[in-house]
Amino acid sequence: MSKTLFYKIHNFLKKSIGVLVLLSILINCHENTKKPVLENKTVNILSKPSAESGVSLIVLGTVQDAGSPHIACKKECCADLFENPNPNRKVVSLGFLDHDNKQTFLFDATPDISEQVKLLKRNASWDAEELPNGIFLTHAHIGHYSGLMYLGKEATNANAIPTYVMPKMKDFLEQNGPWSQLVFQKNIDLHPIDNKTVLSLTSNLKVIPLQVPHRDEFSETVGYKIIGPNKSILFIPDIDKWEKWETNITDVIKTVDYAFLDASFYDGDELNTRDVSQIPHPFVIESMALFEELPEPEKSKIYFIHFNHTNSLLDFDSKQSKTVLKNGFNIAKFNQIFNL
Ligand SMILES: [Zn+2]
Ligand SMILES: [Zn+2]
Ligand SMILES: [Zn+2]
Repeated sequence: MSKTLFYKIHNFLKKSIGVLVLLSILINCHENTKKPVLENKTVNILSKPSAESGVSLIVLGTVQDAGSPHIACKKECCADLFENPNPNRKVVSLGFLDHDNKQTFLFDATPDISEQVKLLKRNASWDAEELPNGIFLTHAHIGHYSGLMYLGKEATNANAIPTYVMPKMKDFLEQNGPWSQLVFQKNIDLHPIDNKTVLSLTSNLKVIPLQVPHRDEFSETVGYKIIGPNKSILFIPDIDKWEKWETNITDVIKTVDYAFLDASFYDGDELNTRDVSQIPHPFVIESMALFEELPEPEKSKIYFIHFNHTNSLLDFDSKQSKTVLKNGFNIAKFNQIFNL
């Protein structure tokens, strides 16, 4: 059923209490056909908006930069995926819908941007434009910015999409092709942002970049704190070990309602190494140990995200996934929606 049709029927039925029973049957049918299948099967793109007021967050992707299946992977994790791709496996990205101000925002421009901006638009409670009203970038690693290429002339030839970037990221895009062409041709309009400086995006949304330690070959790396009208979130898809950050992560978690945190690798087994201290990401086992003493409500704010193709948290039935949930943490899922 199309969105418009559904709402026409919905509005008509609302006028008559006598047909409330019918309405509930209709809604139930609708819900039944759209029940999200969160296991390793397709999640249908929603045909109804996530909310009609305030701000919604949609998880548009959960996988590490190189996606799943992973190029040239010969392991079991990807064995079946080259033949049977899993449409839920999208590279890490968050989308925001400000229903009151009728604006959409994308956090990170991934190689899966085409499907991700469509999903974002389809969740809008208004007739949103095809492309977001703003894009925020975390850093210059392929999974986080290379989707910008689809905004250029070979693809959609976008018109000056506000693209929010830290200083080194801005220089990198301005001074290196093919990205410089997007700037020169005004497909993207770079807006500088600063570490720990609040940006008031709309009357409903504030964004604060938080610089974090990471392999910074071409740009600095930031996470974001995003503050909605009622709730706020933390998004740190890539970071070196938590101890290397000057900021205490548990203090930041206290200030938000949800925290989407780097979970590239579960433990050393998937990399055939015992020495996880040498890999520059917080392993899930290390994060769970760090957050072990937090009270339950604090733990429940944590959503692991940015899974390498080898990470068993991509399989919701794995024993590792069950351990994470049993310990009081959460696993971010593609198409998951939070109202802020
Ligand atoms: Zn990454
Ligand atoms: Zn693999
Ligand atoms: Zn990275």
